[in-house]
Amino acid sequence: MSAEDVLRETRKAINEILSGQVDIVDITFEGPAIVIYTRDIGAFAQSEEIINKLAKILKKRVKIRPDPSITLPPDDAEIEIRNIIPKEAEITDFYFDRETGQVTIEAKAPGIAIGKKGALLNEIKRKTGWAPVVIRTPPIQSKTIEDIRKYLRMVADERRHFLLKVGKRLNRDLIEKGEYWIRFTALGGYREVGRSCTLLMTKNSRVLIDVGVDVSTDPSRTTPFLDVPEVQPLDSIDAVVLTHAHLDHSGLVPALYKYGYEGPIYCTPPTRDLMALLQLDYIKVSFGEGKRSPYQSADIRNAVKHCIPLKYKETTDIAPDIKLTLHNAGHILGSASAHFNIGNGTYNILITGDIKFERTWLFNAANAKYPRLDTVIMESTYGSYTDIQPTRREATAQLKEIVTRTISKGGKILVPVFAVGRSQEVMLVLEELMRTGEIPETPVYLDGMIWEATAIHTAYPEYLNSELRMKIFQQQENPFLSEVFHRVETGSQRENIIGDPDPAIVLATSGMMNGGPVMEYFKHWADDDRNTLIFVGYQAEGTLGNKIQKGWKDITLLERGNPITIEIKMDVETSEGFSGHSDRRQLIRYISSLTPEPERIVFCHGEESKALEMAHLARRKYDVETAVPRNLETMRVK
Ligand SMILES: [Zn+2]
Ligand SMILES: [Zn+2]
Repeated sequence: MSAEDVLRETRKAINEILSGQVDIVDITFEGPAIVIYTRDIGAFAQSEEIINKLAKILKKRVKIRPDPSITLPPDDAEIEIRNIIPKEAEITDFYFDRETGQVTIEAKAPGIAIGKKGALLNEIKRKTGWAPVVIRTPPIQSKTIEDIRKYLRMVADERRHFLLKVGKRLNRDLIEKGEYWIRFTALGGYREVGRSCTLLMTKNSRVLIDVGVDVSTDPSRTTPFLDVPEVQPLDSIDAVVLTHAHLDHSGLVPALYKYGYEGPIYCTPPTRDLMALLQLDYIKVSFGEGKRSPYQSADIRNAVKHCIPLKYKETTDIAPDIKLTLHNAGHILGSASAHFNIGNGTYNILITGDIKFERTWLFNAANAKYPRLDTVIMESTYGSYTDIQPTRREATAQLKEIVTRTISKGGKILVPVFAVGRSQEVMLVLEELMRTGEIPETPVYLDGMIWEATAIHTAYPEYLNSELRMKIFQQQENPFLSEVFHRVETGSQRENIIGDPDPAIVLATSGMMNGGPVMEYFKHWADDDRNTLIFVGYQAEGTLGNKIQKGWKDITLLERGNPITIEIKMDVETSEGFSGHSDRRQLIRYISSLTPEPERIVFCHGEESKALEMAHLARRKYDVETAVPRNLETMRVK
């Protein structure tokens, strides 16, 4: 079926459902969805029902929008909406988009604004002609989210053209003649960690999953193998899918747009926002290290413009013969495992992305139950038999002990953290320990991008575990808003904290101590044996954090170009229980929990020996076919 056929079918179906009684002005594509514009306010108001019927017939996502001629002027509509939505919803902003007929309502309590089963939304539709979309006002202001929302409004026109193009391309004619085949190519992050990239290719389509950079190794191995013929020209790719925002998965995405890719990126909304935050920081850090970043901020904006956000479990067409569904991966905010249903269910591939198969302070455990599974491509970061981490409970007890000991000596606690994930988790543990009186109340200072990343977490409570979500919904209990947390924004604030004689806890970036504000605190606090340095995240070989962790006692650093030697007298502790990755035991439990059992498991995202060890174990224990491809290898699965 061609794109025109699809639109014709839609018109036919809608005429059948409503026996030709509805005034359809236009039917068009909006990315993977079909949008119907109508002048019929009645049909429009009861559109949920019609949409469900249409979706069943057409097997596509359908949206019904009002034709601009039936919508109230924005000022009148705003008054009407304020009358319909109870005050307790606390509306903070309106945005009317004339082209789509949508009004975006920002509210502090979106549930109240929506009403029972969307009752209020229907009333708004009927009375104003506008299609309401309710979004949450972030409880902590996030500059990233504000900038992205503003920017997307600014480029609404361009986005509409882009989405139409995506829709037409998705609905192109298929090559039906001859044998059908499916294969994937390892382009990066196989037998290594970093620069994750996989090409999924069928007789009809090409999809790239993750396009990362390796920030830790030598410059010649930073990027995935994007020069192979299978991905050239870049515009031959139908879609890019991102599992999560970490730079080893998303770091090179903006460069795709610089070199000719114009297609969509499918990812969760938090992944889009965190990705932009981390990529901007990547440019800054590269600049600071005297290296050239592979793209500029304009390329990041371009990537954001091409994002098609998907919620967990929302199935969508991303290529003529591929459907994608994202599922919780438990790793960082918005992290997903990507499930591909290929050739109308002919074959099912799961790319796990980075997974945590344990409920953490922030997230539910990674999803392991799928409707169908044939090949699973999974991470093996901690796949060696020695990779056993403490549980969250043990980690909490350890943190409590270290903090208590240090505070009783009148010392300071310095925790180098990555801005996204671990810092929010440590914040939650500290907040609870202080609230329940298990450790003395002590100011916790957050320095670096931590506050901004935390703000993004609170803007998406539906991506957090149920307990934390409930706390954030009931605003007064939001643990991130606790008075123990203080944001550090200026150099003089930092100096004051460093000079203050009282005990304090500082969470600061960067996580591996290869720069960032953490270094300022470290320089001043290292030679005092009352203080403690706690590592909560992975310290890569060659980083300063790794050296200190190994027990180095003298460190030479450059200060304004001059070498200074720092003697380390402070205690150095490592708490491994806060990892966002599954340890060996959790990886094994994940494999045995996978439902249904796949016929093949491919291991990636782990040092060579770890990936091989996992494959060996899986083959022995589960009698499943395994593979550990090298970068550039291609495997035919069908
Ligand atoms: Zn990750
Ligand atoms: Zn990763």
